[in-house]
Amino acid sequence: MGMTAVTPARGSPELSGSARTLPGVQLVRMTCCGREWVGPDRAHCCARTGGCGQVFDDAVLWDSHRKAGHCLDPRTLDLVQTRNGIWLRTLDQAG
Ligand SMILES: [Zn+2]
Ligand SMILES: [Zn+2]
Repeated sequence: MGMTAVTPARGSPELSGSARTLPGVQLVRMTCCGREWVGPDRAHCCARTGGCGQVFDDAVLWDSHRKAGHCLDPRTLDLVQTRNGIWLRTLDQAG
């Protein structure tokens, strides 16, 4: 028992009468754990599942911060945080 399916996307962004979607550029805004980010591919360590609430650029980074079921501080993994609060590799962006 107690299977929890986490579905962050709530509601529908579709508004009848206004079709302003740009082909190929789809911004999906996610909000969880008091954070907000864009992109469904981000890996969020949800506090509701015992995580630290951080948002990582991809699942590989998420995996690297999670060792033996415990969350590590992303700063100890040489990651940098964007203005949006997403942790990236330092190779992608320095400063
Ligand atoms: Zn969350
Ligand atoms: Zn975590």
